Parts: sequence; C-alpha cells; structure tokens
Amino acid sequence: MIVLSNPMVTRQFDLNSILRDATICISGYFYVVDLGPEVQPRAHHVGKDKRCLCSLGADCPAVSAVAGHLRQGGERTPEPPADYHILAPETCPICGAPAYFEAKLSTRQHGAGWGCSKKGNSHYWQERSRFIAQALAANPWRFPPVVVRDGKQINAWDGILPTDQVLSPGLLRAEIGA
Ligand SMILES: [Zn+2]
Ligand SMILES: [Zn+2]
Repeated sequence: MIVLSNPMVTRQFDLNSILRDATICISGYFYVVDLGPEVQPRAHHVGKDKRCLCSLGADCPAVSAVAGHLRQGGERTPEPPADYHILAPETCPICGAPAYFEAKLSTRQHGAGWGCSKKGNSHYWQERSRFIAQALAANPWRFPPVVVRDGKQINAWDGILPTDQVLSPGLLRAEIGA
C-alpha cells in the first residue's frame, strides 16, 4: 500500500493515472521512477531484478511503471558485470538460504556485499572465488604467447600449437595469482 502525503487525496487516488504520469530516468543500474507529488516517497529506485528499494519491494507500483516503460521501448539500464551485485541477493547463490545485505563487503567493483543466513560470509567468498575461476577459464592469460603462425606474428590467446614458432611463451594468470 502506497502511503499518501495528504489523506484528502486518498479518495481520489488512482493508480492508473499515477502510473501514466510517472516519469522514469536511469541512474547507474537503477530506474528512478518519479510517481508525482501525491505519493510518499515520491522517487522510487527499481533494479533489473524487478524489485523497488522501497519497503514494497516487488509489489511497488514503480515496478509496473518500469515494465510499461520497457514495453514501450524505453531505454534500459546498462548491464552490470556478472560478478557485480546491484543489491544483496534475496537468496544465497551458493546454497539458496536467505541472504542479507553486508555493508562491510560492499565494494565499488562488485557492488552490494551480502552474507548467507546459514554460512555467513564464507558463502560470499565462495561465490567470489567461483567468479574468479570463471574469469580464469574464459581468459587464462595475463600476457598471451606471441608466436609466428602461418608466417604471421600473432597473440596466441588459444595457446601454443605444435607448429608455432614461439617468440614469447606468455604468462598465465594462475602463475602470478592475478
Ligand atoms: Zn517503490
Ligand atoms: Zn549460503
């Protein structure tokens, strides 16, 4: 239930007209929805996960306003990197137990910190190391090998082939722990 600043307005409260008049802009990874002066709080921040930061969460009318905005081809928020949490997850990505926001684990690079209600910070770190392992698998090289292949000097991101003439063996991230 939206709390209205003026009780007189309650009787005339029309959700459809509020949604129609809502203005939406993008701030970082959030849609900022202005529901107009009759609604308190007036500005609502909706994330890509279809939750509003206000106490109504997924039930906030601002979430419907964003859905309408997107249906009409409105601008989308940028995609955060896979290892970035805009908000603390609702459930632990490792074990599925309820998760909570953890301010001291929040960073600019990875967004909102969180903890697991069953295992605390250890599941946060387990997820972080999973992302690091994925990044390593996607690109294991700190510096790729430099080889001559088919008469051309190339960076061998795919590794050294037996037929390559190796100019530099490259450096694996795993070798330097970065
Ligand atoms: Zn809201
Ligand atoms: Zn967990």
